[in-house]
Amino acid sequence: MKFFIINSGSSSIKYQVIEMADESVLATGLVERIGEDRGRLRNTAFPGTGHEQEAVIEQPIPDHRSGMLLAIATLTDRDKGVIRQASEIDAIGHRVVHGGEDFRGSMRITAAVIEVLRHNIPLAPLHNPANLDGIRVAREIFPEVPQVAVFDTAFHQTMPPRAYLYAIPYALYQTDRVRRYGFHGTSHRFVAGECARLLDRPLSACNLITIHLGNGCSITAIENGHSVDTSLGMTPLEGLVMGTRSGDVDPALHLFLKQNKGMGLEAIDDLLNKESGLKGLCGMNDMRDIHRAAGAGDVRARLAVEVQTYRIRKYIGAYMAVLGRVDAIVFTAGIGENDPIVRAESLKGMEPFGVRLDPERNRLRDRDARRISAPDSAIQVWVIPTNEELAIAREMARVLRD
Ligand code: ADP
Repeated sequence: MKFFIINSGSSSIKYQVIEMADESVLATGLVERIGEDRGRLRNTAFPGTGHEQEAVIEQPIPDHRSGMLLAIATLTDRDKGVIRQASEIDAIGHRVVHGGEDFRGSMRITAAVIEVLRHNIPLAPLHNPANLDGIRVAREIFPEVPQVAVFDTAFHQTMPPRAYLYAIPYALYQTDRVRRYGFHGTSHRFVAGECARLLDRPLSACNLITIHLGNGCSITAIENGHSVDTSLGMTPLEGLVMGTRSGDVDPALHLFLKQNKGMGLEAIDDLLNKESGLKGLCGMNDMRDIHRAAGAGDVRARLAVEVQTYRIRKYIGAYMAVLGRVDAIVFTAGIGENDPIVRAESLKGMEPFGVRLDPERNRLRDRDARRISAPDSAIQVWVIPTNEELAIAREMARVLRD
């Protein structure tokens, strides 16, 4: 079985083709600058095997349909392709950002599902229309192929009302579904499953704190395998300090900026989403640049790391209180997997809570999952690489089997 996994954004399509027999990646690619003058496709066949083949095509890509057709032409190219013809694709999986309260799990895509996704556009006005575009085009091109939607929010639908409600007039929840939803669910669920396997226990017997630190950052409290709280909210702005997003701020900041800076609501939203976080604090949002600058004496770069890791520590403490018993803390995604400094600082001073890092193991560079806590640490600490595409593929297999 070959699965085609699509992550359709407003001006880009990320994709992978996975051979499910051995879960190997046949190809990975990115179509970008859709709708701009200079579109681009980059496709890597057989990544990570030592037999990689790169293809780069630069040409105008007016819309998602032509982007998807270009990707398929590349995948079936006689020299650099990984499949002979498009009909070898057995199923298509779509990453969908916001499933609202309607989806507690992945769904086979039908006209009814598409209708519900449309209905959820107000909750994710930037992301859901782009996801829907990808679904529409894929259904046009592959009318016979089963398609599955996997939602970023679904894993967190087990949160209890005490965790997902904002303390604002309840009518806003009833009429407009204003509440916390959480995101990165596919990643949190994937690393939680891997962690349970490594602890040699069923996931349903595991209490975990999973920390996804990439450009976007979030932390999840998992009780007996279910998400019971997570730091991202109604939109992916709440919680931890991220690359360019502020995370938690006083909501009265909006009024202050309006009254004192003459800013409109859209400008404030832009400020909090695109000009804040690590970038807002020190002008950089790639953690590698920030460490380099901090090492060279840049005080604000150092401060940015401190603010981010302090916020992570606060949330870990909060989720320990939520869970009572914690079996393991898991770090994942770009920063979580690669950054020993951020991991160590996030756990600094937590020995009285039963968290003891092994500094040597923490510094070790490895692509595989690894335990980085000391043998006598009551709570284990793990680094587990996330793999959202594989997680989506496994979900697809499950949905199509059921
Ligand atoms: P996304 O959220 O876009 O999927 P990733 O999970 O790929 O992002 O994480 C991207 C971020 O990971 C980069 O912005 C960078 O800050 C960080 N990162 C990647 N490699 C390293 C590294 N070796 N050390 C520290 N940070 C890293």
